Amino acid sequence: MRLEDLRVNGKRLRQSLEEMASIGATPGGGVQRLALSDEDRRARDLLVQWLEELELAVTVDAMGNIFGRRPGREDDLAPVLSGSHLDSQPRGGRFDGALGVIGMLEVMRTLRDQKVQTDRPLVIADWTNEEGSRFTPAMVGSGVWSGALDLQRAYDRSDIAGKKLGEELQRIGYRGELPCQKFPAHAYYEYHVEQGPRLERERKIIGAPEGIVCLHWYDVYLKGEANQVGPTPMEGRHDALSAAAEMILRVNALPEKMGGNMVATVGEIHNQPNSRNVIPDAVHFTVDIRSWEDERALRAWEVLEKEFLAVAKQRGCPIEIEETWRVARSSFAPALVQRVLKSADELGYPSLQMVSGAGHDASYLNQVSPTAMIFVPSIGGRSHVEVERTTWEHCEAGANVLLHCVLESAAER
Ligand SMILES: [Zn+2]
Repeated sequence: MRLEDLRVNGKRLRQSLEEMASIGATPGGGVQRLALSDEDRRARDLLVQWLEELELAVTVDAMGNIFGRRPGREDDLAPVLSGSHLDSQPRGGRFDGALGVIGMLEVMRTLRDQKVQTDRPLVIADWTNEEGSRFTPAMVGSGVWSGALDLQRAYDRSDIAGKKLGEELQRIGYRGELPCQKFPAHAYYEYHVEQGPRLERERKIIGAPEGIVCLHWYDVYLKGEANQVGPTPMEGRHDALSAAAEMILRVNALPEKMGGNMVATVGEIHNQPNSRNVIPDAVHFTVDIRSWEDERALRAWEVLEKEFLAVAKQRGCPIEIEETWRVARSSFAPALVQRVLKSADELGYPSLQMVSGAGHDASYLNQVSPTAMIFVPSIGGRSHVEVERTTWEHCEAGANVLLHCVLESAAER
């Protein structure tokens, strides 16, 4: 068979995705596989079993990242690497992460079926704790691997029950012997569901993000003056929650004011004492600003900060602001992005160049190796929820694009 005619086995891909989705399955049709939980361990065990059936060399590093290596004809050359994550959000979707791991597994199974040996070795990866929902921050497995995050600091992160990440890795048997450190890779591809509405809206099957937007996180703390709500007149109050409400609406209005493809969100708020008959005296809320242009996001924050200070002053509520996390925009390797578009075209799938609004392990991988991602449509643009779905046909299409991108990269000198 000519390599151009090679296609993955869509039926087998679906079976494996369904089998994986049965681990931590939730009543609403999603999955709950929090990082380093028993469900995560069972998902890892199943993956390792599948990798061993393919006779891959399986290794686990000190962060619990799992790798399966398939030798190449010229085995000393840097491998082509591809993968994603098997952990999920609480009551999350069955495709987010799993599709990229099982998609690469299906690529390797197809190559074995057809007895194709590539020039470069191939490596599949399952990165630890991508979601960051049980342990913050997100993308910690690939972060430590790439050298951006510190191993001991990652081990010391606690969940809300006080359990440490390092101890939980040990408990589930995935604190590996191999040091967690980057190795050279010729290319990294991450296959993932879009998690947004654009591909569906524009009737495309494949998305090729040119990169991942910048991400700026802030924490805002407001003080007020608590008092009985009945006898206290409206004028002269220092109501921290009313001040926060004004600020939150400014955040919501910010993207329209600034232009560009910016989004800005307040997703978390804590109100003290949170009683219907006490004027709130302490409020903490978060701000998340994302944009393709780092500069524009920074300018937006300057505008917002001035508005926050003005509101705080006018309401007599002292304010404190903390800059919590900042990740610069990640621009993928243009040659690999073009390869994704070209492969989609040759396979007859309509495609689109776009931008990723969500963070992925590919952000950190991009600091180590030329990187690109392959997106397929999310039905209704929904993700991080139990109803997250992608059609089986689209799952297969994305895996075919991955197959041909991997083959081309693996044949390069
Ligand atoms: Zn994901």
